[in-house]
Amino acid sequence: MTMTTQTLNFINGDFLPARSGKIFENRSPVDGRLLAMVAEAGEPEVDAAVRAARAALAGPWGRMAIAERVDLLYAVANEINRRFEDFLSAEVADTGKPASLARHLDIPRGAANFKIFADVVKNVPTEFFEMSTPDGKGAINYAVRVPKGVVAVVCPWNLPLLLMTWKVGPALACGNAVVVKPSEETPSTATLLGEVMNAVGVPKGVYNVVHGFGPGSAGEFLTRHPGIDAVTFTGETRTGMAIMKAAAEGVKAVSFELGGKNAGIVFADCDFDAAVDGIGRAVFANCGQVCLGTERVYVERPIFDKFVAALKLKAEAMKPGRPEDPATGIGPLISREHQNKVLSYYRKAAEEGATVVTGGGVPNMEAGVAGGSWIQPTLWTGLPETSVIVREEIFGPCAHLRAFDSEDEAVGLANDTPYGLATTIWTGNLSRAHRIAPKIEVGICWVNSWFLRDLRTPFGGSKQSGIGREGGVHSLEFYTELRNVCIKL
Ligand code: NAD
Repeated sequence: MTMTTQTLNFINGDFLPARSGKIFENRSPVDGRLLAMVAEAGEPEVDAAVRAARAALAGPWGRMAIAERVDLLYAVANEINRRFEDFLSAEVADTGKPASLARHLDIPRGAANFKIFADVVKNVPTEFFEMSTPDGKGAINYAVRVPKGVVAVVCPWNLPLLLMTWKVGPALACGNAVVVKPSEETPSTATLLGEVMNAVGVPKGVYNVVHGFGPGSAGEFLTRHPGIDAVTFTGETRTGMAIMKAAAEGVKAVSFELGGKNAGIVFADCDFDAAVDGIGRAVFANCGQVCLGTERVYVERPIFDKFVAALKLKAEAMKPGRPEDPATGIGPLISREHQNKVLSYYRKAAEEGATVVTGGGVPNMEAGVAGGSWIQPTLWTGLPETSVIVREEIFGPCAHLRAFDSEDEAVGLANDTPYGLATTIWTGNLSRAHRIAPKIEVGICWVNSWFLRDLRTPFGGSKQSGIGREGGVHSLEFYTELRNVCIKL
């Protein structure tokens, strides 16, 4: 990309600048260079996108047979795969994540999300009930699924294409039209998907993209727009609260995947190397910017010191570097702003008297990338559970480790949080795993694994980590409405 590139809104099949002429910068997290200017959608663009989506529902898209819709979604997936390298370079440029990670996770999952939900809608039955009536003739009931309508899709920056298609895939499979508001940090792959939609012949207005920020910008304009039927959002819990208020106007349905403060629990009877490896990934993958990541690690006392030492080695072996360098083990944080936020927690940890096992600051980088938002993988011990470090989501490559002595204590510690997204448990005792996994107040509890995702399973958060479940047939709960037809015989 050159400095003059402009990332445009995608409305009714056309790539459009903002009428106001407003633009904002998209900068590389690796070296701070300007990647592109982005057209910021104002109220007119958001309104045009919502109208285009509404019109699509009333047009050929709304009348399309499921089989044809499913074929189109397969074509979308195939076209993403055909343009794999374009998506890869756009995602890597926006996020700074190692290309190896985006190559095996972000882009393939971005394509797969269209196939899996195409398969789901093709195969899911609805219900049927026969009932008796006083005249002896009876009646039958059957349910039909209809699309929700125009769905607003508001996305974060950590896994931009993957998390966006996780919503757009099922929304379109179910026959809805969408208006997507990607994160202002990562506008590129959502825009590129517009080219894919046009290339395979998805009707105009079915998929729209508006760029901008949250309050006073595209995010707020979209979520409070009266033409929206439902809002699906992934991001911070605090933002979810603001969106829920906006959605209250007009009683729009909401589906939320929010923040977390996930625990890892390591028992002394675990496969030690596998646990170090698994917890290492859970803490440091994507530079700690994974909603399912672990920032609190509880380790059974007999192996605590050994485990801390092994995780320290893992942290120190991860080389920060350019995304395309195969030796790179960890990329930068998404932005200077986020780097400042994470560093403020690093300072607080030191102020509160944490033992800094490793890290705690910014690594020395070569001159060419010194302007990037780099951060050291960091581990602490010795803080009380009341510390902000143990309570608040930091969203960086860091964790606090603490020893525990009993199963009940570990479960209590894991549950002592307002969040409830994910937990990863490491033990060689399967009875123990079965005993405690259901007691953890989270949407997903991994045993001897982390981030192992079967896309047919229910995914979502408990407590303040979300509302609703996505994945497989569960996505239909939000993206469709069931209508009952009752026929007296
Ligand atoms: P964020 O909440 O700051 O922003 C997410 C999106 O919301 C962005 O597109 C932003 O522009 C928009 N937004 C912000 N304020 C808004 C408003 N008032 N109205 C409408 N839109 C608004 O989140 P982020 O920093 O992009 O992402 C990181 C967060 O996302 C973390 O908390 C992480 O845990 C969470 N997350 C959760 C999951 C999950 O599945 N539960 C997955 C990934 C990330």
